[in-house]
Order: sequence, then C-alpha cells, then structure tokens
Amino acid sequence: MTHSIVVGAGVVGLSIAWELVKRGHRVTVVERGRIGRQASWAGAGILLPANEQTAVHPLEQLTALSNRLHAEWSAELRSETGIDNGYQVCGGVYLARSAGEQAALAGLQSFWDECQIKYCPMSSKELAKRYNFIETSQIRAAMSVPEEAQIRNPLHLLALESVCQLRGVDLVSHAEEVVFETQGNELVAIRLGERRITADVFCVAAGAWSSQVLSPLGIQLPMIPVRGQMLLYQSSRFVLKTILNEGSRYIVPRQDGHLLVGSTTEEAGFQSLTTAEGIRELKEFAERLIPKLTSERLLNSWAGLRPATYDGFPYLGKIPNWENGFVATGHFKVGLQQSTGTAVLMAELIETQTPTVEMAVFAPSRVPEFGV
Ligand SMILES: Cc1cc2nc3c(=O)[nH]c(=O)nc-3n(C[C@H](O)[C@H](O)[C@H](O)COP(=O)(O)OP(=O)(O)OC[C@H]3O[C@@H](n4cnc5c(N)ncnc54)[C@H](O)[C@@H]3O)c2cc1C
Repeated sequence: MTHSIVVGAGVVGLSIAWELVKRGHRVTVVERGRIGRQASWAGAGILLPANEQTAVHPLEQLTALSNRLHAEWSAELRSETGIDNGYQVCGGVYLARSAGEQAALAGLQSFWDECQIKYCPMSSKELAKRYNFIETSQIRAAMSVPEEAQIRNPLHLLALESVCQLRGVDLVSHAEEVVFETQGNELVAIRLGERRITADVFCVAAGAWSSQVLSPLGIQLPMIPVRGQMLLYQSSRFVLKTILNEGSRYIVPRQDGHLLVGSTTEEAGFQSLTTAEGIRELKEFAERLIPKLTSERLLNSWAGLRPATYDGFPYLGKIPNWENGFVATGHFKVGLQQSTGTAVLMAELIETQTPTVEMAVFAPSRVPEFGV
C-alpha cells in the first residue's frame, strides 16, 4: 500500500488526503498548528459559477471540475460524517457603483457570455424591489447570477477532518518542524523532532508557507502571502439570501442570519492580524450598501493569508528535481473553490494517471529558475 504524507492541513491538504485515502493510500497529514485554521478557515466560501462544457483554459477547467465535485463531495461528506457543510447554490448579485466597476462588470458579462454562464441584468427598480434594504441610489448596474454557490468553510473543514479520521488518516496536529530526509533525488522520510515517518510519496500543501517548507530542499517557489480581512455581522432586521458582490468586496449570507463581509487584499508579509483601517473600510462598504447594518451587531473580525504565486496560477505538480515530491498550493482567492478539483488532479498525478485537466500551466517547473 502506498504511504503518502501531506504537509499542511488546510482545505487543500485535507482534500488531497481524503482523495488519496479513497483510492486506497495510507495517508499521514502533518500540520504545525490546529487542523484547518489558517486561510481556509478565514475565507468566505464563495464558489463562482463555471461551465464544464465550455471551459477551455485549464484554470477554468479546474474551477468547473471543482464546482461539480463540490456538489458531490458535500453530499458524500454529509452521509459519511453527518456534517452539513452548508453547500448551497444561493445565487449572487453583482453591483457596480463607479464607472470603473461598471466597466469591470461589462468585462465579466463578456466572460459569462463566452462561457455560457447564466446571468440576468437587473433594473434599479427590480433591484430596489427585490432588495428593499439595499441603498440603490448610486448603483449604476446590477446583474443576477443564479449559479453562484457557497460552502460554509469552517464546517467543510470540520467535515473533511472528520471523514479523514473515520477513514484512518493519521492526522498529526501541532507537529514540530518538518525536516525532510532524502536519498539521491528521492524523499524518504520526514522527521518531527524525535518522530521519523517514512513514506513513498510526499505532498506539500502548506498554503502561503509552502515556499518556506520547500526551501530546505533547494526549491524557491516565488510566493506572496496576501492578507484578507473579514467581518461577521448578525442580521435581524432584514433577510439576505444571495451573495452581494461589488468590485472586490462582498457580503455573504449564511443560512442562520450571519453575514460575512469581505475582503481586503493586502501585502503585509506574514501578519495575519486585523487592522483598524481594514475593519473601517469593510464597515464603510457594508453599511453604505445596507444602511440597516449600522444597527446590527458586529460579532467578529479576522484575517487570513491567501497563497499567491508569481503568475496567478497555482503550483500543482512534481517538485522540481525530486522524484516522489509534489506540491499543491498558490490558489490565492479561489482555494476553497478549487480544492476539490485540485485533490483529484493531484491524486491522478501521484498515481501516474493522465490527469483529467492538462496540467502543464500549473507545473512548478514553469518557474524560470527551474527552466521548463
Ligand atoms: C479573507 C479571505 C477570503 C477568502 N474567500 C475565498 C472564497 O470566497 N472562495 C475561495 O475559493 N477562496 C477564498 N479564499 C482563499 C482560500 O481561503 C485559500 O486559497 C485557501 O484556503 C488556501 O488553502 P490552503 O490549504 O492552501 O492554505 P491554508 O488554509 O493556509 O492551509 C495551509 C496549512 O499549512 C500549515 N502549515 C504551514 N506551514 C507548515 C509547516 N511547516 N508544517 C506543517 N504545516 C504547515 C498551516 O498551518 C495551514 O494549516 C479566501 C481567503 C481569505 C484570506
């Protein structure tokens, strides 16, 4: 039986672990902190619409594959663990307030046309009628996108952790620093302090920290942590069911009346604390769009670090120069969404099958330093 070690227990690492264990691998996941408490916990869980039939670029294909799998995985997770991850096709509304946002929305519209993704322009009268709590006076354009979906990411992580446990994955949390043991161009084991774990396959899925994990192997993957801050409100004075998107900001309604407001996009190194400025910006955005929020309870705020790559594509594939080493990271703003497809593609690569999606654009070896 192949023994695979996954380093990092975010949504990407846990999803890969589940996919591998389903395929008959023995799996160990090594996490230096708590399971699933970094970017994957901090995110909003928005699943943007995609179309598997029309997707041409591998990145679109990964997204579309992932969307189909989210529906299937959510049902499987519920039946295996009893945990409902809150998957729902709740729809989204895209709003443009400034001329720039209007131009960006027109660009999105062309993209949706090309991909045959359903959308419907909304007049300001319709918008005001359907969402009588939104301040619509400065909204220049609105589009309804019925296939936008969401998962409640903390519950999704809980379900993944639980299914991994039920399937016998060895989940090592609060682990000491991973030290790789090598022989020639193969990885043979990791050391965690006194503990040594040998394996056949090693996969690094350590989010924004992946580059640090790989650096002792002589691999410098260009990556930047990009902070995103979030607010959590409780709504009691109005009912929102669809996701509201305006530029890079959004309000995501959960089924229990919680509203997530996100997010900022900041290069602040590995600082994952919220700032007064970030919170103020998000409050201003949310309360300008829904004035009733000023009298709702702001329950919480937090921040997470998105793993960004130098060219905007994730790193999915073999670690350059290492035979049995793999990496899966760099999903930036869409890692929750692309985690399911990533897990399947990585498992296919690890098992030397032809991957469902052409993976050359994702190969870490595309980094100029490694030469393609
Ligand atoms: C505010 C915000 C909003 C977002 N909204 C969305 C959204 O709506 N939809 C979407 O699809 N995506 C969203 N994202 C992006 C998404 O959250 C990330 O792309 C995704 O979570 C990355 O998952 P990951 O498993 O690679 O990283 P992480 O969740 O960060 O997991 C990496 C794990 O590796 C561990 N680790 C690090 N170093 C080591 C080490 N040396 N040894 C062992 N373990 C290690 C970390 O502790 C961590 O648990 C959002 C992100 C943020 C911050």
